[in-house]
Amino acid sequence: MSFQNPVFIPGPTNIPEVVRKACDMPTVDHRSPIFGRILHPVRENVRKVLKSDSASVYIFPSTGTGGWEAAITNTLSPGDKVLIARNGMFSHKWIDMCQRFGLDVHVVETPWGVGIPAAKFEEILTEDSGRAIRAVLATHNETATGVVSDIAAVRAAMDAANHPALLLVDGVSSIGSMDFRMDDWGVDVAVTGSQKGFMLPAGLAIVGFSEKARGCIATAKLPRTFFDIRDMDKGYANNAYPYTPAVGLMNGLLTSSDMLLDEGLDNVFARHRRIATGVRAAVDAWGMALCAASPEVQSDTVSAILTPPGFDANRIVSHAATAYDMAFGVGLGEVAGKLFRIGHLGSLTDAMMLSGIATAEMVMVDLGLDITLGSGVAAAQKTFLLGKPRTTKAAA
Ligand SMILES: *Cc1c(COP(=O)(O)O)cnc(C)c1O
Repeated sequence: MSFQNPVFIPGPTNIPEVVRKACDMPTVDHRSPIFGRILHPVRENVRKVLKSDSASVYIFPSTGTGGWEAAITNTLSPGDKVLIARNGMFSHKWIDMCQRFGLDVHVVETPWGVGIPAAKFEEILTEDSGRAIRAVLATHNETATGVVSDIAAVRAAMDAANHPALLLVDGVSSIGSMDFRMDDWGVDVAVTGSQKGFMLPAGLAIVGFSEKARGCIATAKLPRTFFDIRDMDKGYANNAYPYTPAVGLMNGLLTSSDMLLDEGLDNVFARHRRIATGVRAAVDAWGMALCAASPEVQSDTVSAILTPPGFDANRIVSHAATAYDMAFGVGLGEVAGKLFRIGHLGSLTDAMMLSGIATAEMVMVDLGLDITLGSGVAAAQKTFLLGKPRTTKAAA
């Protein structure tokens, strides 16, 4: 087993060496001023990555799933009605959490491979004349299907219905790799984790609350202790936490968010767009199709690739691991065995991606699929040729 290869799973992602080093630090007293020199700039950097001028950022020792819980428990009460589409494993799991918390969940069943149906949301919100729906929940990027949804369109649907519900968005596999505009899209709670776009090990839930969402905290009655924003606010006011923070990971987040901001968010997004375009060109050259049903919903952070009927797609993932020490993602839930996933978010270059495409070809040829060696690599190379945006930062 070699650890030399990059991973091509859609999280956890590859960790840059400087970020690993930043996480590896001596014990810091988290009640001392030194901790404040990590905490405050980290919150500020994350706010910039979320593209918000005013969001309050909270960082929990947890994962993205904990971020979902922080989003709903701090803003909603038992029995509150929420609206959400189920179009993949992650929206499915957020729905399950809402149901377990006793929320009244209006689920819009949506084919896996399709984005959030904003027009249907507008219809439902318009019909909700009593304004019973307290929150609209949206998974920006369905990591299970490689489908990105149009959050601006969801916001437009809410505005067209003149509906006051909160907009809670799971940006776990988009934030830091794909454009995310908390303020422009009127997002009330943005959720992510450390191990995707932020290029860190798992261990942090990262959430941004709008002023409007913060206004709900006092009246929200869902049970919460660990994720209670009120305790976090008290802690943050004193450079501290209600419990022991994951200081090393937060120091790593300071470095990784600096990296994103130094590269320039637009350059980061362009890099992911270019790499994703190369992967899509390879898939096309292989004569295969994506789970994402149309070009406008194809994700720039993960490609879910359908395999021929009757072929167990999990074999690609297990053979890649055993024969080539390379990690691809399996299909989840409804699409298990029907597709495999190439993750291309976080720390990734064109050259790294070419190695992933080349290995996927060897794996598929080994398993008897009708693939010409080099066909996908050549297609991606054509996409990458001189494709790198020439920025001063990149040239330095
Ligand atoms: C990874 C992921 C999650 C879950 O995050 P964890 O850190 O594994 O708890 C939630 N939503 C999406 C879209 C994800 O990709």
